[in-house]
Amino acid sequence: MNHDRSHALFTRASELLPGGVNSPVRAFKSVGGEPFFAQRAQGPYLFDVDGNRYIDYVGSWGPMIAGHAHPQVLDAVARTMRDGLSFGVPNPLEVTMAEAITSIVPSCEMVRMVNSGTEATLSAIRVARGATGRSRIVKFEGCYHGHGDSFLVKAGSGALTFGLPNSPGVPKALADLTLTLPYNDFEAATALFDEVGIDIAGLIIEPIVGNANCILPREGYLQHLRELCTRHGALLIFDEVMTGFRVALGGAQQRYGIAPDLSTFGKIIGGGMPVGAFGGRRDLMRQVAPSGPIYQAGTLSGNPVAMAAGLATLELIQAQGFHDALEASTHALCGGLEAAAREAGVAFHTTRAPGMFGLYFREGPVESFADALGSDAAKFGRFFHAMLERGVYLAPSAFEAGFMSSAHSEADIAATVDAARAAFAVVA
Ligand code: PLP
Repeated sequence: MNHDRSHALFTRASELLPGGVNSPVRAFKSVGGEPFFAQRAQGPYLFDVDGNRYIDYVGSWGPMIAGHAHPQVLDAVARTMRDGLSFGVPNPLEVTMAEAITSIVPSCEMVRMVNSGTEATLSAIRVARGATGRSRIVKFEGCYHGHGDSFLVKAGSGALTFGLPNSPGVPKALADLTLTLPYNDFEAATALFDEVGIDIAGLIIEPIVGNANCILPREGYLQHLRELCTRHGALLIFDEVMTGFRVALGGAQQRYGIAPDLSTFGKIIGGGMPVGAFGGRRDLMRQVAPSGPIYQAGTLSGNPVAMAAGLATLELIQAQGFHDALEASTHALCGGLEAAAREAGVAFHTTRAPGMFGLYFREGPVESFADALGSDAAKFGRFFHAMLERGVYLAPSAFEAGFMSSAHSEADIAATVDAARAAFAVVA
């Protein structure tokens, strides 16, 4: 594969952007080499500036659940933008979006639109603190909730990828208010709440940990957290920026039958445009300005073009059988990869939920953050590049979930498994 144009762009970018990128994991640092620059995307494919095509299992890190450049999404954007890009006064699409989210996710009686997942989680913990009058929050090792100060404590995603789970620049006094727990450990959660439950404003969790690859909750674990929060007067916050509208239409909370007090969203509800949202119980959301005293605002929040892209995407995923098909294709991919690894004699394990999956270079099971860290990251890096050379783009980190879209066909999955047979032979 020729990468001359990408290389020239990366050389220029590296002088102007930290690490040559606008978000760390894009730099390929943990897998080595240089990123390719995308020219365009269509369906399940990314095309780079050198004309190479990749089957894309990143999907812009989650939003592109219906595939890239879906005509219905592009039409909605084109139609909407002809009327103007931003108004600074309310627009009808914000109301339609609020109706869509609250009808799909019943625990969200009211929502507020923001511009990113980070803004959504920052705002949600402000609501938790404001509503409870408490200061401490609980998060889980390896979970990533965006780059807000309170969350860069034992964080996952890029922070984990680069060995920066605790970032310089976060005041110690603030970080001290963030308590961390090991995911899927029932006793540790009980013990923490028994000790300091009275001080805990909220517990925030990725119900499926997509930022430490893809760790699924043990049977009853999310229910256990629900009960602890209720008993101790803390708010349960599901960060569904990744899982929302993906692992089921109503997200992980529908899949596992849990009603959190607050939820955060992003990615899919923007259809590829910059969007986030937080929502939850009406009595809590009524405390947000201007109906209440907890301040939160945004110049571009509820942007009409972003709402149009998100609404068109939500319409697509409400088609009959959408999530069943996504589950079937995720299953087919993971099964095919595991079989290819077995043939090559490589220790390999996958985890999956509809539309998202984790790849581990170790034997299973993987149920904890420590298990996830046990994956051989160097082997993953070699596998990543062997796949890339064969036209398959996986997340460029051993700690990021992969994403499946409805545009991935059986033929794409078969081609991916074929590539994997050769790639596993390279790393064996
Ligand atoms: N929460 C989760 C679970 C995420 O996966 C992410 C980003 O990947 C965020 C929050 C932050 O979202 P954003 O990157 O839009 O700020």
